[in-house]
Amino acid sequence: MNEINNEWAFLIKKAREVQKNAYAPYSNYNVGACLKSTSGKIYSGCNVEHSLYTLTTHAEVNAIDTMIASEGANARIEVLAITIPKKSEKPNFPCGLCRAKISEHMKNPEIPILTSFPSGDLVRIASLEELYPHKSFKSLN
Ligand SMILES: [Zn+2]
Repeated sequence: MNEINNEWAFLIKKAREVQKNAYAPYSNYNVGACLKSTSGKIYSGCNVEHSLYTLTTHAEVNAIDTMIASEGANARIEVLAITIPKKSEKPNFPCGLCRAKISEHMKNPEIPILTSFPSGDLVRIASLEELYPHKSFKSLN
């Protein structure tokens, strides 16, 4: 568990709100994501599943793509929060695909990634560098 500031608590709250809109009839695992870009704008996303699983959009990707669509190709993530179902036993950080996606659009490798405990009262924080220390592909970042 970590101490969080008001801004981070706000991002968790917004992620929890958008999590309710997830379309997850196959996994029954609703996820919400909310990020703040370096311009100070806030973007949210939820997972949107598809019966052809490869067409599923993860919440983090949804939020990042919305940031790019709004601000353009040079937009960068300053901090990102996710929320997971309250039935979960422990907090989870973004999956490997999302870690790769975040790394492409991050401000720097030290950006904080927040994940709430299912109870919603506590938060775990790790840097993207901790979660994704070795890139396996060429990236502009
Ligand atoms: Zn993911």
